[in-house]
Amino acid sequence: MTDFIIIGAGQAGLSMAYQLTKLKKDFLILDANSETGAPWLKRWDSLKLFTPTEFNHLPGMDFPTKKGYYPDKYEVAAYLKSYVTKFKIPITFNQKIKGLKKEDDHFVLKSESETFKAKNVVVATGPFHKPFTPPFHSKISKDIIQIHSEHYKNPDQLQKGDTLVVGAGDSGVQILNEISNTDRNVYFSGDTNITSIPQEILGKTIWWWFKKIGFLSVSKFSYIGKKLSKGGQPVIGTDVKSLLKKDNVICVGRTLDANETELYFEEGHYQNIKNIVWATGFKPNFEWIEGVTLNDYKYPKNYRGVSAVEGLYFLGLPWLFTRGSATLGGVKKDAKFLSDYIEKSKEEPAYSNMVLKKQFA
Ligand SMILES: Cc1cc2nc3c(=O)[nH]c(=O)nc-3n(C[C@H](O)[C@H](O)[C@H](O)COP(=O)(O)OP(=O)(O)OC[C@H]3O[C@@H](n4cnc5c(N)ncnc54)[C@H](O)[C@@H]3O)c2cc1C
Repeated sequence: MTDFIIIGAGQAGLSMAYQLTKLKKDFLILDANSETGAPWLKRWDSLKLFTPTEFNHLPGMDFPTKKGYYPDKYEVAAYLKSYVTKFKIPITFNQKIKGLKKEDDHFVLKSESETFKAKNVVVATGPFHKPFTPPFHSKISKDIIQIHSEHYKNPDQLQKGDTLVVGAGDSGVQILNEISNTDRNVYFSGDTNITSIPQEILGKTIWWWFKKIGFLSVSKFSYIGKKLSKGGQPVIGTDVKSLLKKDNVICVGRTLDANETELYFEEGHYQNIKNIVWATGFKPNFEWIEGVTLNDYKYPKNYRGVSAVEGLYFLGLPWLFTRGSATLGGVKKDAKFLSDYIEKSKEEPAYSNMVLKKQFA
């Protein structure tokens, strides 16, 4: 039986692997995909990080590009692959874990083809699980191409004609921007009052400013952190105001309903739309884990990744502790906290009890 199994070989799983290697623990990573970096490679072709090089370092190995540069998705995947090679991280691919439960003093993990056992488990399955599209999408005519942002690669996937992009987050506005540069009208559905922040202010990256004012270290348990973690995130790097003023971009407010080729919006209804890109986000999925309590947003209750089930940990969740928890450069602090907890809680039950109490406070 393995001492630790980490589920997920993304940046969170790899950062935890680094810490467990330092602790000289016996561990293995299981991942549903067939290669390191797969979640990045599956994202759209023109994707560039909104965080510059110096904010993308995993523990023990810096991102190799120069300071101030915004890497593309291929460079991120290549970095993660070289990280695995450098630290000789053991990963078994093509193992999607569909059931996890504790039996006596160990965990049993089941994929379609195999059963694994471990004394401890770190769930690092990422912040994005089930793509969400409003239920009325099933009423839309088959003649209209519908793609969730998870599967959007580039405008070549679209048929000729007007296109609707739904969603006002980073993904929505970046995809809207790309499609608006093709020869077509693009309908934008979502909040037009989105706050957008430029990538650089006064010669410094926005992340430099975030760090300077302490925004990256505000914990979700603080007064400000509670407000920030529940509010919407500003869009970084896309000049949304100019984008929405383009001649071929038509703002229609929220999408309300659909009937075959007719789409209903807060501001009118249209019949000429040929493609829809749903940049409408994701819902978490932790239902395959027995014994954890989920919060109102369907994320497992925890304190900085420590769950109420002894030996079961979480990493890489949005706002696990700070805004940076689900970013390349931010996850290492949470991985270090967990590794310190793993070591200290063995020696000091009082410390362990104190952490456990916090998750229900
Ligand atoms: C469009 C987009 C742009 C982003 N840009 C940036 C950026 O510029 N800078 C930044 O720092 N962050 C960015 N992020 C946020 C974040 O860094 C990424 O989402 C990152 O991929 C999260 O890493 P992770 O390791 O937590 O999860 P993932 O990269 O999603 O990895 C999770 C792994 O777990 C595996 N897995 C999932 N479920 C199971 C299961 N049941 N069994 C086995 N394996 C499983 C998956 O196969 C996957 O390999 C961006 C996110 C998105 C969506």
